[in-house]
Amino acid sequence: MKAIKRLTILVVGCSISLIITLSIIDYMHLDDQQPDYNSKYAINEIEKYEASSEASNPSVINDVVLKEPENVFEENDLMPVFTINFITEAIKTRINGISYHENPYISYEDLRYLQVSYFDFNGNTQVGELIVNEKVANDLIGIFKELYAHQYAINKIQLIDAYDADDNLSMEDNNTSAFNYRYMTNHKTLSNHAYGIAIDINPLQNPYISGKTVLPEGSQTFLNREVYQQGMIIKGDICYNAFISRGWTWGGDWISLKDYQHFEKKLQE
Ligand SMILES: [Zn+2]
Repeated sequence: MKAIKRLTILVVGCSISLIITLSIIDYMHLDDQQPDYNSKYAINEIEKYEASSEASNPSVINDVVLKEPENVFEENDLMPVFTINFITEAIKTRINGISYHENPYISYEDLRYLQVSYFDFNGNTQVGELIVNEKVANDLIGIFKELYAHQYAINKIQLIDAYDADDNLSMEDNNTSAFNYRYMTNHKTLSNHAYGIAIDINPLQNPYISGKTVLPEGSQTFLNREVYQQGMIIKGDICYNAFISRGWTWGGDWISLKDYQHFEKKLQE
């Protein structure tokens, strides 16, 4: 009997310890508001995040860190960056009167400023900037994380304001960009870029073709879509699938004209 009693006490004791331990672990666990850290690799980052969690930058509303993609980072400490911010006063200063103009349709509050890591054509990691509609910001973070994980090559990603909001100059420089308060090419209606719900990727390798118009200058060598060259978006590739799986449409699927660089998402009413 004594032995059974001791065993019972031991079992009960162990159970209580286990429950207490689990409660402590649960209490320590990151809640849903914080980034999704799945890898051991991210432990340092969690510590850093917690140390600064009283937000040195209160405008950061989503700071997502990618899972470790196959030892890419063993040689250096660089972390990929995937952040969503509000349009701060500093950013307003950069875009007001250039890509942004006072208008009845889209306000600064509707827009978000993203930073995304990517691999350039030389295989080096870079951090790009994008301004997009807040309704598609999470989509784009997910998409750019996928492109990064597959080392999908993007020539450069900078705000179109670097080109004085001139789409032709941005395209000719093979720049990837999204928001620009402008009209559609050869039309009088606002482009979906004006709402921040469209993005152009690697424009030089992915021209806009309407009748005899081929944009940008220099993209004629990429008209044959059967012969793959770096930077080209091909139906069914990583880039195409990343967008299509999130409900975006591709300009390369259009019939009346082709806009191979262009993806857009219709917002739900
Ligand atoms: Zn476009």
